[in-house]
Amino acid sequence: MMIIETDRLTKSYNGRGGCRGITLQVPEGCIFGLLGPNGAGKSTFVKMLAGLHRPDSGRASVLGLPLGRPEARRQLGYLPELFRFQDWLTPEEVLRFHGQLGGLRPQETHSQDFRLRIRDSLELVGLSDAAERRVGGFSKGMQQRLGLAAALLLDPKLVILDEPASALDPIGRYEIRSLLKRLQGRGVTVFLNTHLLEDVEELCDEAAFLYEGELLASGPLRELLSGTGDNWRFRVGGWLPETLSELNDSSGNALLRLIDSDESGNAHLSARVTDREQAGYLCSLFIRSGLTLYESGPEPNNLEAWFLQMVKSRQGGIPQ
Ligand code: ADP
Repeated sequence: MMIIETDRLTKSYNGRGGCRGITLQVPEGCIFGLLGPNGAGKSTFVKMLAGLHRPDSGRASVLGLPLGRPEARRQLGYLPELFRFQDWLTPEEVLRFHGQLGGLRPQETHSQDFRLRIRDSLELVGLSDAAERRVGGFSKGMQQRLGLAAALLLDPKLVILDEPASALDPIGRYEIRSLLKRLQGRGVTVFLNTHLLEDVEELCDEAAFLYEGELLASGPLRELLSGTGDNWRFRVGGWLPETLSELNDSSGNALLRLIDSDESGNAHLSARVTDREQAGYLCSLFIRSGLTLYESGPEPNNLEAWFLQMVKSRQGGIPQ
């Protein structure tokens, strides 16, 4: 089942900006990454999904219901890009307040059940030890985790997170990533707005790419990346200066590039290959040529190549 489906969804601000004609499907249970540079229209798009912006035209359904339905909103957790909690509140008070924003009566948010729910949410995001502290003393990472706890408080089936990790240091980002994986393990669908390519590469099953308000591509990450080919790296021993031209003469269309080599004959090489079989062929070629193969594997930055290729196809040149 598709948990989000949009059909030519469009929203501009007095005829400018926003996003245009976005047709997208998000399968239930996946981690979906909406990528694009700043100003691409990502926040505008998710605000429409969360019911905060009314589209100018187009249609969409979230959790099988048309946009803006309260029944769908109740099953949806949303973490906006820029939020701040009142400094003087404790996490428990923040979450109680969010329970009320989610439609609970004040006395319900003081019930034993709800207290347990608050405790679970804080535990899920790793804030149990800070439950009694004031939010004003929290680091950015802790505030972001509290934002996530608020988005997860009412057990949503779908969470929409707008740049959840952009203000965080590497440890904070690592923590958010592992939390999102845990959520997926619990059956929650995660829709992630981000310009952090590593997050998408590591987390997402599917992705879409927005640029200047338009959708340039969407689908399973593997399929999106398959068109770009893979960069493969090799580390070999027994290298001689003439080896490169000998190898390239017999390697077909995979052009090997020497990254570096040293006097004892160790070398790093890189090649653009169409699939794993071609990388395997290169490995056998090294061995047949008398080299020692120490290591081989894909380079991790294929998404970056794809991203640049997308932008280039729109601009007619790689951005400087
Ligand atoms: P992203 O989330 O990808 O950075 P946004 O959806 O925030 O992109 O913005 C897309 C475009 O719409 C930008 O050109 C931005 O300036 C414009 N925009 C966004 N929000 C508003 C607004 N409230 N009023 C006017 N223009 C806006």
